[in-house]
Amino acid sequence: MGLGLVYKDGRHIFDEAGVDENGQQVPFLKFPLFENTGIVRHGFSTRKGGVSEGCFASMNLSFDRGDDPEAVRENFRRIGRAIGVRCEDMVLSRQTHTTNVRVVTEADRGKGVIRERDYNDVDGLVTDVPDICLVTSYADCVPLYFVDPVKRVIGLSHSGWRGTVGKIGKKTVELMQEKFGCDSADILAAVGPSICVECYEVSEDVIGQFRAAFDREFWKELFYAKENGKYQLNLWKANELVFREAGILPEHMAVTNVCTRCNSKILYSHRAMGNRRGNLCAFLALNVEKQDKKRV
Ligand SMILES: [Zn+2]
Repeated sequence: MGLGLVYKDGRHIFDEAGVDENGQQVPFLKFPLFENTGIVRHGFSTRKGGVSEGCFASMNLSFDRGDDPEAVRENFRRIGRAIGVRCEDMVLSRQTHTTNVRVVTEADRGKGVIRERDYNDVDGLVTDVPDICLVTSYADCVPLYFVDPVKRVIGLSHSGWRGTVGKIGKKTVELMQEKFGCDSADILAAVGPSICVECYEVSEDVIGQFRAAFDREFWKELFYAKENGKYQLNLWKANELVFREAGILPEHMAVTNVCTRCNSKILYSHRAMGNRRGNLCAFLALNVEKQDKKRV
């Protein structure tokens, strides 16, 4: 069916979706966990359905990697149409592997796609403004999605190994609590498509930081040593632990079983493709409240 993604062991937590109004196939992945709330539009892009060429083929969503900006703009329009959000309402992060999370307001609409961004070092975004679409970028790093259906607040964070050690997922939840009065027991959270443990080799110094950040009882689940002196690191499990630490309930979590590197024909992967590649994006937008009522 669909894209022909290779799924790792475990529950299939994705639906493959996306044909736009012209019948053009613009596939994306979505979580039933969020879809079932009826209060958000969301998705995770693939390499398919865009107009970029060469190593960017075809749905590259980065203006910073040397691709034709017109092609990238068209790609944003296409994936936006498929998911149901407008470029004018998108707000992009500016990722530098920090744990900085920005509260996105009305004034930010369109920044990063149709307007210049006036901020830097932003790896996480939260908002309570309906119809603003938060957007973060990936090619193996871990997308973290947050939806509070009670307070109607959303968040999206980029969690590579540095963000995971720094627990940006927890910082995102804390900002949702601080700014919007969210209760972590209400928040739904998901770990999106990213690199799996079998594909993610790291060196001793990285593992040293994970030892410092996570209790010894979890180390066995987080990484294992190999004969070459390197380790395989499990960023999915690590971010699940970060969710738990932040007070997210196990029944409110979804953790991906789609690896970007195992699926590098369909998803961009830095480990598989190096620097000659495009970027994937995560998208998350709150619906306007009256739209929900209409649907009921
Ligand atoms: Zn893999």
